[in-house]
Amino acid sequence: MVRVRIDSLRSAASRLSFDHPSGSLQVGSAKISTPFSLRLEEGSWIINPSGGKELEFPALQPLLIEPARAASGIVQYQGVDWPGRVEVVAVSDEGAHAMDVVVQVLMETYLPGVIAKEMYHSWDDDAFEAQAIAARSYAVVEHERWRDRRHYDLVAGQASQAWVGATTHPRSVKAVAATRGQLLMFEDRVVPAYYSSCCGGHPANAAECVTENPNHNIAPLRAGDAAVRHNCCGSAKVARWTATITSAEVVRALSQITSPSMVSGDFRGLSGLSSIEVQRRNQSGRATEFRIRDNKGKIASLGAEDLRRALASVKGGPLKSGDFTVHISSGKCRFDGRGFGHGSGMCQHGAQAMALTGSSEVAILQRYYPHARLVTAWH
Ligand SMILES: [Zn+2]
Repeated sequence: MVRVRIDSLRSAASRLSFDHPSGSLQVGSAKISTPFSLRLEEGSWIINPSGGKELEFPALQPLLIEPARAASGIVQYQGVDWPGRVEVVAVSDEGAHAMDVVVQVLMETYLPGVIAKEMYHSWDDDAFEAQAIAARSYAVVEHERWRDRRHYDLVAGQASQAWVGATTHPRSVKAVAATRGQLLMFEDRVVPAYYSSCCGGHPANAAECVTENPNHNIAPLRAGDAAVRHNCCGSAKVARWTATITSAEVVRALSQITSPSMVSGDFRGLSGLSSIEVQRRNQSGRATEFRIRDNKGKIASLGAEDLRRALASVKGGPLKSGDFTVHISSGKCRFDGRGFGHGSGMCQHGAQAMALTGSSEVAILQRYYPHARLVTAWH
């Protein structure tokens, strides 16, 4: 069972809508006619069934909403079908009056809705199967990491992995079934199998760009030998990109960096922008650190992914990856970049390119998670 946060509401006054094709849902110990709305008010969950009497449950406890016995195993929340059961929790890291909506779902039921959203539907079975194994491994690691520490393991979205909820997409359902229980292992641990859209031929070390956990600095998540990724994803549209952001916007974004640990030097009070140069690259040639110089010669530096994050909401951004060079002229920064996403682990466009030339899911995983073993953890 994995716990996936599908929504987080900042205002307790938000009304959540639930429905079920059978006409009712089980809420705690009560069977309630659908559709109904739910809100949080002064320490209580208030439920308004359509045409029925208002009901109240103490909000000290999370509220479990599930299909009535023998009904189809989905819950409709805000008009979308979610497989499994829904837990509403009056606690959230989003703020004091926020609440979380979490779906509790069996791993093998969860995964089709991940890969249906992560992959282009026209892509090949072998790429889908490799993606299913990577997504399963990643989810197992997140579940282990969080199960005793918070009320959800993953979020549905970029911070973990995408999830559409229930899906009947045939290739996604088939790929999950064909790889049931299969996980990537390294030594005696499951690999947190990070993946991203397109590495641009310059794979990243996970430890430099997606995780601060030193245990994740392992062979399957290192960029390794650049030659192995030669021509990885060159035919993808995002293998090369450009973006233009005004120097003023870049300076403004840099001056708002609040975490001093990200930066060596100081970005406060920059006087214009003279250059942004790659200060360090990893063994595959991917930019990992940038040095920034202002018009008075002041210098500061920061990591590539931190720079990308800092520029996420400026006009002309966000940048597709942290692997780029910058050309500054006439008050504008032109970013010439490669790839889409953090670039660690499996490159989805590269996986599809391999599948097209007849590689199996095993060969794809061997290339992108070198030295990992494939095991079947459950049947
Ligand atoms: Zn690639």
